[in-house]
Amino acid sequence: MSDDCIFCKIINRELDADIVYEDEHSIAFKDINPVAPVHILVAPKKHIPTLQDMDKEDEPLIGHLHGVINEVARAFKLDTKGYRVVINCGSDAGQIVFHLHLHLLGGRPLLQNLAQGRGA
Ligand code: AMP
Ligand code: ZN
Repeated sequence: MSDDCIFCKIINRELDADIVYEDEHSIAFKDINPVAPVHILVAPKKHIPTLQDMDKEDEPLIGHLHGVINEVARAFKLDTKGYRVVINCGSDAGQIVFHLHLHLLGGRPLLQNLAQGRGA
């Protein structure tokens, strides 16, 4: 828990969000500024600022977050046509909320393949 972190506030119900999934270790809620028809953020309840701040002991947690992505993707019917999962890490990646989160994006063809360097 970090006092000035908006995602910790969402986890602690001090700030409203459209929560679509929750378990002991994670939460998923709709992005307030969606860039795709489905744009959901999946975050650990543990306050880890960036992917680069994770410890070795967090590896199972990061794996768990991908299991949550799988489940939420199925709930939003993205499992057949596909989706993209994005983690922005640090300033060059444009990270603006420093509480680790995965973006789940889908519901339309995502034409730019960032991994192939065309979207930079
Ligand atoms: P980034 O840190 O760049 O990976 O992205 C942070 C994301 O959090 C952005 O897509 C924002 O639209 C989203 N966001 C910021 N504040 C909130 C909020 N209160 N509820 C839901 N999404 C938010
Ligand atoms: Zn936090």
